[in-house]
Amino acid sequence: MALQRTLCIIKPDAMEAGKSGAIVARLQEEGFSVKGMRQLHLSRAQAEGFYDVHRERPFFGELVEFMSRGPIVVVALEAENAIEKYREVIGATNPADAAEGTIRKLYGTDVGENAVHGSDAPETAAKEIGYFFAGCDVRPSA
Ligand code: ADP
Ligand code: MG
Repeated sequence: MALQRTLCIIKPDAMEAGKSGAIVARLQEEGFSVKGMRQLHLSRAQAEGFYDVHRERPFFGELVEFMSRGPIVVVALEAENAIEKYREVIGATNPADAAEGTIRKLYGTDVGENAVHGSDAPETAAKEIGYFFAGCDVRPSA
């Protein structure tokens, strides 16, 4: 398995709880390298654009409201098998179902406010990293 990239977003709930530093430190301890990182505050339109794939889901309005309510940190991560490995480290979507010690178990509140985002496939990871980082910010993989 070659080096792969994935997008982490530290969501507003984890930011409000002051957990961004702990989350980035944990990810580095788990072997991810940070290829890009910035803090921003999404507008509703920017949050809608990012989550366009969920537009028809019943929780879309709630999700957009949540993701635009305060600052987030977006982190482009790289590791061997990064997408699957990262999803193991963050745990299930609903923190109540997440394994002990995972980031969502430690810092998430409920199925909506679950502390972090993670990409689900190489194509979506590339699209999501491109949504937040210009090519000159995050260089293409070697
Ligand atoms: P994941 O983030 O684990 O990939 P999904 O892609 O299914 O999960 O959903 C995207 C995000 O939408 C979740 O991380 C969560 O913030 C929110 N979400 C998912 N399901 C629900 C739900 N049933 N009610 C409220 N918000 C939800
Ligand atoms: Mg998803």
